[in-house]
Parts: sequence; C-alpha cells; structure tokens
Amino acid sequence: MVQSIEKLDLKGKRVFIRVDFNVPVADGLVADDTRIKGAMTTIKYAADNGAKVVLASHFGRPKGERNPKYSLRPVADHINTMFMKVKFLNDCIGNDVETAINSMANGEVVLLENLRFHSGEEKNDPSFVSELAKLCDVYINDAFGACHRKHASTYGLATAKDQKGAGFLVLKESKYFDQLLKNPDTPFAAIIGGAKVSDKLGVIEALLGRADKVFIGGGMAYTFLKQMGHNVGQSLMELDKVDTCRMLLEKAESRGVKIILPVDFVGSKEFRGAPVAITGREISDDLMGLDIGSKSVELFRKELEGCKTVLWNGPMGVFEDENFANGTFAIANTLAEMDATVVIGGGDSVSAINQAGVADKVSHISTGGGASLEYIEFGTLPGIDVLRA
Ligand code: AMP
Repeated sequence: MVQSIEKLDLKGKRVFIRVDFNVPVADGLVADDTRIKGAMTTIKYAADNGAKVVLASHFGRPKGERNPKYSLRPVADHINTMFMKVKFLNDCIGNDVETAINSMANGEVVLLENLRFHSGEEKNDPSFVSELAKLCDVYINDAFGACHRKHASTYGLATAKDQKGAGFLVLKESKYFDQLLKNPDTPFAAIIGGAKVSDKLGVIEALLGRADKVFIGGGMAYTFLKQMGHNVGQSLMELDKVDTCRMLLEKAESRGVKIILPVDFVGSKEFRGAPVAITGREISDDLMGLDIGSKSVELFRKELEGCKTVLWNGPMGVFEDENFANGTFAIANTLAEMDATVVIGGGDSVSAINQAGVADKVSHISTGGGASLEYIEFGTLPGIDVLRA
C-alpha cells in the first residue's frame, strides 16, 4: 500500500511536496493551469493541517543551468492570483532557502525555483538530495507525471526521509492503475494508438498478460499490417519492428488475447493532404493511412460492447487535422457511453477526450502520459514504489 498523506502528522512540520507544475507558459503567463488545480487539494490539505508547505517542481528542460526562461515565478504569480498566498524563493537549495523555510509559520506555503536549474536533480546526485533533505521533515509526492523518473526530488529524497507519503493526486492515479493491473473487471480491453509502434511495444507486450482484447490503431497499426502481408503504401511504418510485431501477434494467439486491427482507413497522398477513403486493408503505393475508416470504427465499437474495463492510450489517427480526426473522436464518444471503468492514459488521448467534450463521462483521466505507460509496462513506478509503507 502506498502511504497516504492523511496518515502523516504534518502539524508544525516542514512538508516538501513534489508537484508537477510543468505547465504551458506563454508571454510570462500560465496558459493552462490544469496541473496546478490538480495539486491544489493536497497543498490546501497540508496547509490546513498546520504544515509549513514547501512546493517543488521541474519546469521545461534547462539542463542543469539557471535560465530565466524556465523560471517557476509565473506559476507562483498565477497561484497568488487564482488560488492562495504563496511565497516564491529564488532557488531550491542553499542557505537563503533554508533560512526562509525555517522562519515560516504553520500553514504558510512557499514555491521553490525550478529543481532542474541544478544538474543533481536529474542525476539523483546524493549531494543534491542531501541539500533538499535539509529543507524538510516530511516528503510528499503528488507529481504523478514525474513518478517514472528516478530523480532527486521524485526518488532520492523519498529514500532519505522516514516520514513520506503520496498526495491525493498520486493516490487516485495509483488506485486506478493498480486496479487495472491487478484486479480489472473483465472483459478488459486496451486500445493503443499513436504514432510509433517502437514507443509502445513494451506496453503492448505487458497488456498481453492482462487484457482480453487489444485494439491497435494510429500510425502503429501499419507495422502490424505490414507483418501480416498487407500493402501499407506510404503509411508510417517501422521495418525494423516487423519481427517484434510478429512475435506479439503469436504471443497474443497463444494466450488467447484477441488483437483487433483496423480494416479500412482514411488516407491521403501527402501528410495532412486531401482525404481519400481507403475501403480495405490494402493501401496503394501513392497513399498513406492517416485515420481508421468507418468500418473499423464499427468493428471497434462492436468488439468493445460488453467490456467492463477499458484503457485507452494514443489517438487512432492524425486527429489534430479534422479530416483525420473521426476515428479518434468516435472512440472517445464510444468510451463515454460505456458502462465500464474507462481509464484514459495521458497525452493525446486526454486532449481528444477533452475536445470531444466527454471528459466527465469516463472514470479516470491520467495526468501522466509516459508515467501511465510505464506503470502498465512495469506494474509500478519508482516514485510510487518508494512511498509504499
Ligand atoms: P503518440 O505520442 O505516440 O501517442 O502519438 C501521437 C501522435 O500520433 C499524434 O500527433 C498523431 O497525429 C500521430 N498519429 C496518429 N496516427 C497517425 C498516422 N496514421 N500517421 C501518422 N501519425 C499519426
């Protein structure tokens, strides 16, 4: 069991909360505060329970050097305007930071400057970890999107503290993924899409040991179809992964897992060019598949009927272009109507479910793309494992 923040005594303690404030910022203003909102429950809980709250996050990729472009100051300004009083500290380690934290009153909140201004963060460097450790008595991780990283703030610091636990966001994420992995209501269907098969081979393999049906759409379907002897034209295809796809199809068969691939497409002569309907699985040499077709949508819908758990990661086509978005939105709408536990695994599928306007109709939308995939692939995440009691 992951230790909950609710089990810890926070009163008067310096509580380090690793949050994910890696939000889009444009012209010095926060453009989308979903992640900040997501962390607010934990932050307010800690402050209301008398903690001296020390917030820390990464922001962008400053590669271990101080760079004003990647400062978290706009995030502090946004929190002050929209949510609660927070003091911004100019660094995340050092004497000045320590002094400021030691003079905090119970219930006060500070935000540290970007952890990645120090190279020790991503390297999980022991001396950087011990600098962070000086700043707190209790460690809380509420940055699910960073839990697959073994960094100083997501891993090293947790190992250095006896008093540690998960915030509400991480607790919710791990509840859904643990259920999916250990005890899903069956039939359990996984829908995997997106651009490259190489990114998701590990996840597909892991799913063959857990799911009853695996649907494959998006750019990655073509490597599977090529392996099956179909002509895929100019479609996205990874020749060096054809053998792995064969191995996965054989494994699926031997385990009784049904693999469902598209049976028709919407394609084009060029990437995001004029749409052309492709009626079967054979794609002529001058075309590329950019979305699943209407027959495939029908097939996917039929095969999803009666499934009790569904995991979805990755779009069915180039959904950023309305000509190739139908398959992805059809899946989003189908999932919204289902009487099943539906978990959306981060990234593009989240924006698709939001754009389709059905986000409130699914059980869980993960805040971590890479993290959710690794959770499924490896059964846990280092940043979560380290919080188990
Ligand atoms: P990923 O990050 O792997 O989940 O991939 C998401 C991207 O895959 C999106 O930007 C889609 O436009 C892209 N994508 C989906 N289907 C295709 C396709 N058939 N051909 C090229 N790109 C695709």
